Amino acid sequence: MKSIKIAIDGPASSGKSTVAKIIARNLGYTYLDTGAMYRSATYLALKHQLDDSKVEEILEKLSEYPISFGKDEKGQQTVLIGSIDVTDAIRQPDVTNNVSWVSALPEIREELVAQQQRIAAQGGIIMDGRDIGTVVLPDAELKIFLIASVEERAERRFKENLEKGITTDFETLKDEIAARDYKDSHRKVSPLKAAEDAITFDTTGISIEGVVDFIQEKAKKIIDKG
Ligand code: C5P
Repeated sequence: MKSIKIAIDGPASSGKSTVAKIIARNLGYTYLDTGAMYRSATYLALKHQLDDSKVEEILEKLSEYPISFGKDEKGQQTVLIGSIDVTDAIRQPDVTNNVSWVSALPEIREELVAQQQRIAAQGGIIMDGRDIGTVVLPDAELKIFLIASVEERAERRFKENLEKGITTDFETLKDEIAARDYKDSHRKVSPLKAAEDAITFDTTGISIEGVVDFIQEKAKKIIDKG
């Protein structure tokens, strides 16, 4: 069976990683959460008190503590830097509120994009992020751009946070999501935008299963065509 590359882009909390994980499992593909990689770089920068004038040092830390992915006892994906498990730490508000300046640094993007492309070269891949269809996998056979209203995205993140034991004020969360979208869409290098050949899908009011079915149907058509 033909293996394809699937790119899923979109703004914060648009459901990308939730649906990408399910589709990866159903198709037997590798799932790569590129947001977790930018979050890991941000964690390292904050931990070592490095700001945007210290790009070389951030890159050094990234090579000292390589990003990798594992699985916990429940089969959930974990994120490691070196041998340190940062799965939960990279979802904390300090990382979330700083990730946009780290991800706007061209040298950091160059390094992480190279790592992402090496992983994709192994075949059958579904990757989610902001620049997958435009920069990382411009030749992906299927490109999806997921959008949803900021209210709905804030609600989803609010619930996700609660499940992880993180309490957040709803209005603050909404403002932070909107601010992150603005920064991600307006940065000079690889801004968040749909690739010209991407299918834009508004997930407002649509269930996870509905989004999965939509994407999977498109993927299966391409795979079956061989
Ligand atoms: O997907 P997630 O919300 O975890 O991404 C965190 C941040 O990482 C985004 O707000 C963005 O700044 C950055 N990012 C990026 N390019 C990607 C994936 C994420 O710039 N491909």
